[in-house]
Amino acid sequence: MSYMMIACSAERTASPNIKDFKYTVDRFADIEILRYRVPDFEKLSLKQKELIYYLSEAALEGHDIFYDQNNKYNLCIRRTFETIYINYKGDRKSTDFVHLTTYLKRVWLGTGIHHHYSEDKFIPEFSEKFFEEAIKSIDKKQFTAILKSGQSLDDLITELKPVIFNPAVYPKRTNQAADVDLIQTSANNYYGDGVTQAEAEVFYGKMKNPNDSTPVSYGLNSKLIKENGVLMEKTYKVDGLYSQAIVKIVGWLEKAATVAENDKQKEVINSLIEFYKTGSLKTYDEYSIKWVKDVVSLVDFVNGFTESYGDPLGMKASWESLVNFKNVEATKRTEIISANAQWFEDHSPIDPKFRKEKVKGVSAKVITVAILAGDCYPATPIGINLPNSNWIRHEYGSKSVTIENITEAYDQASLGNGFAEEFMWSDVERKRAKDFASLTNNLHTDLHECLGHGSGKLLPGVDPDALKAYGSTIEEARADLFGLYYMGDPKTVELGLLPDKEVYKAEYYGYILNGLMTQLTRIQPGKNIEEAHMRNRQLIASWVYEKGKNANVIEIKKREGETFVLINDFKKLRILFGQLLAEIQHIKSTGDFAGGKKLVETYGVQVDQKLHVEVLDRFKKLNLAPYRGFVNPVYSLLKDESGNITDVKVSYDENYIDQHLRYAKDYSNLPTFP
Ligand code: ZN
Repeated sequence: MSYMMIACSAERTASPNIKDFKYTVDRFADIEILRYRVPDFEKLSLKQKELIYYLSEAALEGHDIFYDQNNKYNLCIRRTFETIYINYKGDRKSTDFVHLTTYLKRVWLGTGIHHHYSEDKFIPEFSEKFFEEAIKSIDKKQFTAILKSGQSLDDLITELKPVIFNPAVYPKRTNQAADVDLIQTSANNYYGDGVTQAEAEVFYGKMKNPNDSTPVSYGLNSKLIKENGVLMEKTYKVDGLYSQAIVKIVGWLEKAATVAENDKQKEVINSLIEFYKTGSLKTYDEYSIKWVKDVVSLVDFVNGFTESYGDPLGMKASWESLVNFKNVEATKRTEIISANAQWFEDHSPIDPKFRKEKVKGVSAKVITVAILAGDCYPATPIGINLPNSNWIRHEYGSKSVTIENITEAYDQASLGNGFAEEFMWSDVERKRAKDFASLTNNLHTDLHECLGHGSGKLLPGVDPDALKAYGSTIEEARADLFGLYYMGDPKTVELGLLPDKEVYKAEYYGYILNGLMTQLTRIQPGKNIEEAHMRNRQLIASWVYEKGKNANVIEIKKREGETFVLINDFKKLRILFGQLLAEIQHIKSTGDFAGGKKLVETYGVQVDQKLHVEVLDRFKKLNLAPYRGFVNPVYSLLKDESGNITDVKVSYDENYIDQHLRYAKDYSNLPTFP
């Protein structure tokens, strides 16, 4: 599972600037494109660099796969617009052409014609007439690779127009709305034409054996199609669907195996190759187990059909790849936390009968990502927890990673964007945020993930699902409060997790400001809060505000008609966090549905409409992009005269358009309609 952060500038504030690195690359529609650094790549051994190079190539060879998975017209549309962009000889400064360029940039960002986050189809701002004229102004030969046999350019235009321009055609990538056929109403391509949800459910229902304690992930790596009325799977594998790309991926994986860091890692790579060749889901599980057990290698990777969010039935997986190496210095932080897990549990401010006698800290590492591809690119998660198979997680555990060079890019790009100037009370808060918010954000996330979710226990006989729809908000609040409470504990300084006893204030201020005010920038006017993490943040912030009102712990102040948040007493605030943690743990441990419902509904859901309008107005003035995506660095092999590899160079000078045009040229492995 990947935990996606919406790159909202309200979320993170930044640490000191890394000189001369330009993080922001491009800006269009509701998107800002950033680049990320790969710190310490130079310090890797030549063999490790070579390994990363081969794995990166294996990642990029899958470039086309996710486009086709998202919608069957995506490759055709992407290639048509890339061809227009490259060859158009008309006025490239005209409004129409600028709009066309924006549309192409959005197609790259969404890996198709739907918004990567809302999953709604976006509609171009140029006309159908301009689309037609632009295509016809270009030599027909340029479109040869796109046209189906016997298809004319006019046929192509007629076929694509409704897919691009008609809002009613393929409106939603993955439909989750109840009471309709989820497969027929989803625009993506995991199921062939005419396959209904009921048919797919029966098809896979027959495969599943409820007594199998180690089931494979049925349907994970195939498209379910109907041929002559008969349902069958077309498996993604060598000589199967997407073979042209998978063969190339396997070729690079074979090279990677020759420079693996150790025999275990070599076995991991070889089992993945075996999986790609056979498509066998048993082999996939063997690979996943080997992968999760390899905790010694410095270099690591994900490459395959991994996340199933895109399938409304939650079985079929999107293709993705991510190559990384361990950030040894930052991982010490998560290791310290895990090693002291019992101390934190024993001192937790909850009723002792809800504490765990024996806790196991989750083993988590901090990584530096070297390349992103497929479902991780251009929009990317900031953390990943894999594998997804439940029984493998239960028996062999999982790897939880935080991608710190991505969060660094988010933080750095937010520096000086005007957010702190607009919403923070004074220079004291701004300076604290600038100097320490990156550090405290990361520590809070670590405490939340490594300890918070794993702490506490249910009383015997309590149903883990007793809190029903309020369960995830309560659970997220529990993990957040655990982190908040301990950030202000002298123990974090003693363990070397924070440099001094004042630094935690950056997190407290940022958290309260976000929970009381600035997260409202993500809510549409007039709406209430629905998403669990957002409910949890408002719940915590409003609860401590109200309970601390008499002692003036948190103050809401007006200045020139604008609203600000001030924290007057950090010590008392920490005590309030502890009290709320105790209350929430009680609700969780006893399965108190009514208590959970009351807390969430009272503090976490309703939006102060007047404040909301004000926050939206102030945010709008800043003109910040609500979403962010990335470009990858470029790796090249350096060789001596005899052709031996002497080094791998990483460079950061490629822009968004050039990168996508290069990928389209070098890694276009699939036919337009695979
Ligand atoms: Zn969580």
